[in-house]
Amino acid sequence: MTPSHTRIPAESHGISLADLSENARFVLEKLHEGGYEAYAVGGCVRDLLRGRSPKDFDVVTDARPEEVKRLFKRARIIGRRFKIVHVVFRNEVIEVTTFRGGDASEVQRADGGMITRDNVFGTIDQDVWRRDFACNALYLDYASGELVDYVEGFSDIHGGRLRVIGEPESRYREDPVRMLRAARFAAKLGFHLTEDSERAIAHCRETLDAISPARLFDETVKLMQGGAGRQTFLELRRLGLLEHLFDGLATWIDPLDPASDWPLVEQVLKATDDRVTRDLPVNPAFLFAGLFWRMLGRHRLRWLQQRVPAEDAMVLAADEVLAIAARKLMIPRRLAEIIRAIWMLQADLERLAPSGDAKGGKSSESELSEDQQALMHAPWFRAAVDFLCLRSTTSEVDASVCESWRRYAPERSERHEPMVEALKPSDFGKKRPRRRPRRRKPAGARRPAND
Ligand code: ATP
Ligand code: MG
Repeated sequence: MTPSHTRIPAESHGISLADLSENARFVLEKLHEGGYEAYAVGGCVRDLLRGRSPKDFDVVTDARPEEVKRLFKRARIIGRRFKIVHVVFRNEVIEVTTFRGGDASEVQRADGGMITRDNVFGTIDQDVWRRDFACNALYLDYASGELVDYVEGFSDIHGGRLRVIGEPESRYREDPVRMLRAARFAAKLGFHLTEDSERAIAHCRETLDAISPARLFDETVKLMQGGAGRQTFLELRRLGLLEHLFDGLATWIDPLDPASDWPLVEQVLKATDDRVTRDLPVNPAFLFAGLFWRMLGRHRLRWLQQRVPAEDAMVLAADEVLAIAARKLMIPRRLAEIIRAIWMLQADLERLAPSGDAKGGKSSESELSEDQQALMHAPWFRAAVDFLCLRSTTSEVDASVCESWRRYAPERSERHEPMVEALKPSDFGKKRPRRRPRRRKPAGARRPAND
């Protein structure tokens, strides 16, 4: 049986191939010329239909990974569970996936129904049922410019609905990360989960605990640094998912209680959203330093009450809190070092705040004491000042303390001056694709390098 579908012509759906990035078009064209089917799919189609600019472009085809690789000069096959091809351009990576096929019996599952291996290729009308939400399952056909819709995704996008394809509970059990994606899309797009898609989350939340801390860390960064981190955090809380990412944090978060951890957490999420919106770089160390800061304070206090010296109390508390965070998320070692440095410098920054009388202008370093100068040269000093100033917005620190250090560590608002120095791939111990800088292309832009 061929599942029924509709083909929506370009004049009805309103998006054109020209809305795709030049590189995405190039990849689609090459596949098409090679005699393969080629579609843009997923978030890019959804975002274009909502009038937003897509974060990235995903392509799907009937060409096998090896066949895709052969078409492009700079392409690499990646993925363990399912092979995909990254076609690499100077500023962008286009992910090319082969249609997934196979029915439920052909994928390998763990006890709870989670898919553990899955490398069966198929056709578009099989691929569509493997996708998560109907709004993410529209295919833009390069050959005709039509949208291919098997799951009434088009009407969901217009109605702002987030609906799991198929039976929600088994789809969440197959891949529990879909619940996190639900929170992310609901927050980012302002969509509402349909009743059964939401209800099933309450029955499946615990399955998230079987996901590897490395994958959960990556997903958490996407959740918090996707531009709607504040709203996503609240949505995760509402859906009862927060405690599966941050152990012991959810009970301390109450948006209605100013004495809870929320005000500082909210500030760090807002600062991150603001930078993402302005297309400025963000570093997860700053984010995690903020999420766990108040927890750190509670642990520190417990040590102080046991008469441990202040400095040792801080070190012990930082060890404990990072160990708690690591139960759920594999925070890369380098990142943990930065988080720790940001935390450790706070007390010194408060204690040694310059009393300066500079009238707004930049002060000279020679006005500082030796201790202050040493502090200024400590690794992650600027990040620590940024964090100190963030704390001052919740009145935890006097604004004058922030201002006095700001003269030596001006706020970074330019692209080349990240809030926290950018991390290198080697900081994570593995290579990861870099964020694509969104530069405006000059009219009549050059042909992509990957030909
Ligand atoms: P974003 O705007 O964050 O890129 P997206 O929907 O494009 O959103 P991607 O992670 O880029 O998300 O995935 C591309 C597409 O692949 C999705 O739209 C969806 O169709 C499918 N997909 C991704 N992850 C899953 C998953 N865990 N389960 C099922 N389908 C998925
Ligand atoms: Mg995408």
